[in-house]
Amino acid sequence: MKREVAARGVDIISLGIGDPDSPTFPHIVRALAEAAAKPANHRYPDYEGLPSYRAAAAAFVQRRFGVTVDPATEVVSLIGSKEGIANMAVAFVDPGDVVLVPDPGYPVYGIGTLFNGGTPFLMPLKQENAFLPDLKAIPAEVARRAKLMWLGYPNNPTAALASPGFFADVVEFATKHEIIVAHDNAYSEIYYDEPPPSFLATPGAEALGIEFHSLSKTYNMTGWRVGFAIGNKALIGGLGKVKTNVDSGIFQAVQEAGIAALSGDQAPVAAMRALYRERRDLLLTALSRLGLEAQPVRGTFYVWVRVPKGFTSASLTAKLLEEIGVVVTPGSGFGAAGEGYIRFSLTVATTRLQEAVERLGTLRL
Ligand code: PLP
Repeated sequence: MKREVAARGVDIISLGIGDPDSPTFPHIVRALAEAAAKPANHRYPDYEGLPSYRAAAAAFVQRRFGVTVDPATEVVSLIGSKEGIANMAVAFVDPGDVVLVPDPGYPVYGIGTLFNGGTPFLMPLKQENAFLPDLKAIPAEVARRAKLMWLGYPNNPTAALASPGFFADVVEFATKHEIIVAHDNAYSEIYYDEPPPSFLATPGAEALGIEFHSLSKTYNMTGWRVGFAIGNKALIGGLGKVKTNVDSGIFQAVQEAGIAALSGDQAPVAAMRALYRERRDLLLTALSRLGLEAQPVRGTFYVWVRVPKGFTSASLTAKLLEEIGVVVTPGSGFGAAGEGYIRFSLTVATTRLQEAVERLGTLRL
């Protein structure tokens, strides 16, 4: 549909994809340029990551979350967190296993499960539960067969954070049913009030948890493919066993740039938060003028908006594209429980967002 509308000469503003429009910070780009010139970096890397990269990751999570991990055994580098999320299922999901998957959610959790013969059990994230899964609603038989639970807060697409106490409930549930908890913290640094925690800071989580981190959104490095996982030694080891047979690690020069990102000045990250805040508030004001109900945006650079009566996710998405040339993502694309919502992304230049807001002002719903 987007191509068809563009072919008519409409200037399309895409608020569909979560890919930062701002460039990678200059000190990181400089670190890459220097590292790329070193012949030692031109050879095969180790899949688990340079000791110095893993040490920088461990120091980052210690500083930021107060979580202590051994860089030698409790950290593994990832070619973007998506790689690790997909390989997690290769490592731990066998045919017949149940995997608890949030709905709506980042699609790789469920698709990785299916690729490996597992059965996703969808946990609806409902507005009335502040977009947290209701653990009590998981049938005993499902909990008994479940191998793994996926969670991710700050949450894509709902922009919710985990409430205090929720992770403790998850640890209790997962301990009781012997379930691995895989927490996706790709948006840990994109927040508006209190910094969100690591799941691994929850007492008991180290026995059953693994957490996925990404440099993509924090440092505007989506194209670089660099992230890491931390957590329980056996889980990191299992993921590593898959990786050593599948990939050959991250280009070492990119790892050196990653060290510059994780260990360097974090002020540009705070500046990005301020920019997203400005854009968030701009869009929220426009949506409220239109009478649309946006959910509280507590983390991520997404705005999750209730579709008004008379529309579906798809029909409102189509109307925005057809009538004002604005692309959003229909909530149904994140799972059946995403029906009734659309997602706006704040990763376009503020001037373009301003224009999208002006066009929204002309819309009749
Ligand atoms: N997790 C979530 C919730 C995401 O939205 C994304 C990317 O959009 C990722 C993980 C993957 O990020 P990356 O592979 O760039 O680290």
